[in-house]
Amino acid sequence: PHKLCMIPGPIEFHEDVLQAMSTPATSHVAPTFIPVLGESIELLRNILFTSGQPFIIAGSGTLGWDMTACNLIEAGEEVLVCNTGYFGDRFGECLETYGAKVTHHRVPIGDAPNVDEVRKLLKSKQFKAITITHVDTSTGVLADIQRIAGAVRELSPNTLVVVDGVCSVGSEEIRMDAWGIDVVVTASQKALGAPPGLCVMGVSERAIEVFKARKTPVANYYANWNRWLPIMKAYEERRASYFATPAVQNVMALHVSLKQIVSQGIENRFVVHKDAAEKARKFIADLGLRLVPTDKTHTANGMSAVYYPKDVTAMDLLPRLAARNVVAAGGLHVEIATQYFRIGHMGISHIHTSAGSSTPPSTAGTAVDGQVLLPRLHLIDEDKQFSDG
Ligand code: PMP
Repeated sequence: PHKLCMIPGPIEFHEDVLQAMSTPATSHVAPTFIPVLGESIELLRNILFTSGQPFIIAGSGTLGWDMTACNLIEAGEEVLVCNTGYFGDRFGECLETYGAKVTHHRVPIGDAPNVDEVRKLLKSKQFKAITITHVDTSTGVLADIQRIAGAVRELSPNTLVVVDGVCSVGSEEIRMDAWGIDVVVTASQKALGAPPGLCVMGVSERAIEVFKARKTPVANYYANWNRWLPIMKAYEERRASYFATPAVQNVMALHVSLKQIVSQGIENRFVVHKDAAEKARKFIADLGLRLVPTDKTHTANGMSAVYYPKDVTAMDLLPRLAARNVVAAGGLHVEIATQYFRIGHMGISHIHTSAGSSTPPSTAGTAVDGQVLLPRLHLIDEDKQFSDG
């Protein structure tokens, strides 16, 4: 038994996902493994609504930033970063590592990117790419990637639209082709419902062309798409191929989870997450608590960032939740880190937002049979010693 992991990733695993990890040593070119990676690549096309190239590479979400920056940006090129928190700062740093000239579009904490401002910036100079953190995990802010991508396609058609979907793929709607998105970066451990260990990406055909037309060599060995494109193609064609050893068991686990996502229906999944988020928000509001996002129109559906009531600190809540077998996360945004906490309700974890819901039978090894997160947050005011604030 373990404590229910209700942080915004890693999320709880379905027991079939966990089972897939506990398999005998398997060659990465075994006939049993090749179709597992091959089919996972195909499933990602469905999940991201893209005809482009998915990548599944051992690493984490951060590797997706490196892959984007080192393959698509050449030194001296301009990149616009829509920054809604900690992960915007970090993506900017990564881009600068490869010589990008980064302009941050920053907004007050809890606000979403301002599309009018983005339009102005797009007119001010030619950006090679724009990055948008779809859900910044440090604030729970949901960016309107459809509108921003639409503005880019209208005003600056050659600018690549890059979405950091680490905290959104599998819980928020993303339609790469229809919305004109070129890159989606994500990782296995959030709404995709698998253990940490995989960098997962979708890359448009246009972005691959831009990559192929680059003038300078890629300043990275492992992340170079020239090495990975033939590998992804080979596995998809069910051929053995090798550049660097895939994380075999992680891919097996991801494969189970991707099949579940697709068989449950992706559209259905968006609805389920919206419902869970609405329940979470109602519960939080009923407790008299305030969310970090400043408006419900830009609040994530897979996680919630919540300010503590006045005079309450992380020490008052997180250890007490843990004593009741629930793990939540503290604040991450440096300017307000001590003032709020975060809970995840992505993927399988969404069921824990239903007060009094039945035992979550499919959450592997959970200690808290039939006990759910949100009612436990009542302990914030259980002792009547905390006032609202
Ligand atoms: N972007 C966002 C929005 C994230 O939430 C995270 C991880 N929490 C990352 C990027 C980095 O991903 P990883 O920790 O898997 O490297």
